[in-house]
Amino acid sequence: MHLETSLRLCRLADRAGCADTREPYLISDPKLHHGYDRLRRLRYLGRAARVPDSLYTIENIARITEELIEEAATKNVRYVEVRVGGRRGFTLLGVRGMLQAVAEGRRRGARSTGVASSTILTVVRERGPEEALELVEAAASCEECGVAGLDISGDEANFPPALFARACNAARDAGWGITIHAGEFSGPASIWTAIYQLGANRIGHGFRAVEDPELVDYLSTHGIPLELCPTSNLRLGIVRSWREHPLRTLFDHGVHVTLNSDDPILLGATLSDEFEAAQREQGFQDADLERMTGYAANGAFHRDVALAAVGTPAATP
Ligand SMILES: [Zn+2]
Repeated sequence: MHLETSLRLCRLADRAGCADTREPYLISDPKLHHGYDRLRRLRYLGRAARVPDSLYTIENIARITEELIEEAATKNVRYVEVRVGGRRGFTLLGVRGMLQAVAEGRRRGARSTGVASSTILTVVRERGPEEALELVEAAASCEECGVAGLDISGDEANFPPALFARACNAARDAGWGITIHAGEFSGPASIWTAIYQLGANRIGHGFRAVEDPELVDYLSTHGIPLELCPTSNLRLGIVRSWREHPLRTLFDHGVHVTLNSDDPILLGATLSDEFEAAQREQGFQDADLERMTGYAANGAFHRDVALAAVGTPAATP
């Protein structure tokens, strides 16, 4: 899941009235758009001008991360990978400052709830390959930052994977796992290139793999996990209904599908809701959901920690 820094800070500051100062912004209604265009507008509306720089403190970042862990604990989650990518945090606190604050929040969360966690550094495509490489190098040189993986997100259609090969190589050199948002706003080609050009260990979303039978076979044979977020796809208007989501088809073809909450506050998703909907809308049994949880733990970037936390035997790698 994404940390959603500004939304969580805003919620933190709600206690000081931040949320009610929303001005009308001159952007079109998110509902008139779909896919990444809608996501961008939702994010903008959710944060623009409402979170003053002064809220970006080490203590606040640690606090919102701890809250994320506490909320996960209420859903019986045992291991979380927190994606951190907000540019303002990196700019205002420095890459190290931001990531160390997140690590501190994760430690506090682990102490109070027992939920284990890792950090994934998220790089946004449209900010370009140089910034991506700089972020990775800064984070990789900071052991206390506790980063376990790199994620490439953002505008899939206009920023092809090859641009980020250097950032991914640096991440691999640091011993991180690599997950690429692909096959969400673009088709199967984006997933193929994420695997071949960037060496993705996992695919963020990736549901559009279903359009290419050869890719479905490849994912299944190589056990490459897909981080599916059906509610997110529905809310962004890229899948028509839960029932029509390719989760079922991909699962039946042996793809290592996992369920995820993506941007929980922005898109109103929780992991429990995803599991419930999977049972209700697509007839998954408890054993199927256990299998997905096994895929998730097995694909985790701190695999041993995740497997121990979940207490599930490893799925076939
Ligand atoms: Zn995402």
